Amino acid sequence: MRVVIIGAGMGGLTLAQALRGAGIDAVVHERDQAVESTGGYRLHLDERACQVLRRHLAPGHYQALLASSAGPTAFSRFAVADHRMRLLFQEPRDARSETLMIGRIPLRRLLAHGLGQALRLGSEYTGYRANPGGTLTVSFAGGRTEEADLLVGADGVGSRVAAALAGRPTSAPVGVSGIAARTPLTSDMRPLVPALLAPGPALAFGPGGTGLFLSLHDPGSRSMVDPAACAEVAPIIEEPALIWGLLAPDRTFPGRPRELGGAELIRLTDRLLGGWSTPVRTLVRAADPATAAFFGFHAVPADTDLTPWPAGTVTALGDAVHAMPPTGGMAAATAIRDADVLARELIQVRDGTSTIPLAVHRFQTRMAGYAPAAVRLSVRPLSWVNRLATPLGTQAARLALPALASATRLGRTLAGARDA
Ligand SMILES: Cc1cc2nc3c(=O)[nH]c(=O)nc-3n(C[C@H](O)[C@H](O)[C@H](O)COP(=O)(O)OP(=O)(O)OC[C@H]3O[C@@H](n4cnc5c(N)ncnc54)[C@H](O)[C@@H]3O)c2cc1C
Repeated sequence: MRVVIIGAGMGGLTLAQALRGAGIDAVVHERDQAVESTGGYRLHLDERACQVLRRHLAPGHYQALLASSAGPTAFSRFAVADHRMRLLFQEPRDARSETLMIGRIPLRRLLAHGLGQALRLGSEYTGYRANPGGTLTVSFAGGRTEEADLLVGADGVGSRVAAALAGRPTSAPVGVSGIAARTPLTSDMRPLVPALLAPGPALAFGPGGTGLFLSLHDPGSRSMVDPAACAEVAPIIEEPALIWGLLAPDRTFPGRPRELGGAELIRLTDRLLGGWSTPVRTLVRAADPATAAFFGFHAVPADTDLTPWPAGTVTALGDAVHAMPPTGGMAAATAIRDADVLARELIQVRDGTSTIPLAVHRFQTRMAGYAPAAVRLSVRPLSWVNRLATPLGTQAARLALPALASATRLGRTLAGARDA
């Protein structure tokens, strides 16, 4: 059995590691030219995602992941604050559970570790055709082709593989966009960091429906495993930084924000944060322009059949099928869970106790059981941004957010605390 995976994101790389670890022939095609040529800030992996990685990676490999991540003490609570950084609501987290808070680039590099020739970089998928014998011919830009028994689209938001299967795009914009960046925690910036960030990230709401996600990222000082003890696979430790992400309804952003450079995005964020806490604005202004980016958030529409195609020899996982915004901290963990579920089904095919279409059917059915809840939880904070964007909403937020938060379990939603 030969499995061709499109996309070396978190889902595609985990699937490749799991299948190859089980002796199944699998290759990943990624359009990026290098593993580190990607964006992203910090991903949160819940206990279940950690279990999956522990199961499918060699012990020394998993150990390097732990050594590259901040552990659960960096996320012992999630806070909701106002724009003056006054704590409105907090939700404690289990500081003993194994969770990872890891930079997206280190995670991608570590998940790619050891794949060698099975990872084909600079290889952009363009389409496939089914052959009479049941195999597939998969095509790539430049005219190259590859034969497969199973094609898996792990090609993220805007997936070509999933759109071809569904006959339509599998996600849509949610009407809220963001600007994110990293501010290096130099000695003059550290004292400005709001004290409420010490036990974990926060989401602050301000006038006009503007939200600001804030998180300290310092894996070097808070990792669970000593990086010096990693002999087999070298850990990747990022420099300490404040990670921030502005959220606002699309109509808030003037002109064409996608075309702005890093310095202009930081200036725009500072303008949109007029009236916010002065230290926070100083931190935002000190961000590294090379890390600033604009994101339009997408999600699979509510109550959509995630896989509206008969199970066969082509399927898709992760954001390709169930795109969700990063506001729940669940997208990467859900893609990793998908990879695990599909890999376990394919191991039965390897053992002769299942077939590829049966494995795909069982995978798609199980994914439909947990992924929609993760999407719902991730989208909910964005509906709050939209609601608070009205003058009435701003007033209500100031007066009643703590009560609203506990009444609607907002804090839990924002933290992405609950496993789907
Ligand atoms: C640049 C970037 C930055 C991100 N930053 C963050 C962040 O800071 N925080 C956060 O919570 N989430 C972030 N995300 C989203 C997060 O990585 C995903 O939601 C989550 O990891 C789900 O992973 P996935 O494997 O389904 O998709 P992804 O991780 O998005 O991976 C999809 C991969 O498919 C590749 N691909 C797409 N089309 C093709 C094609 N035609 N041929 C070959 N390869 C293709 C893409 O280049 C990408 O590497 C980011 C995603 C991207 C792409």
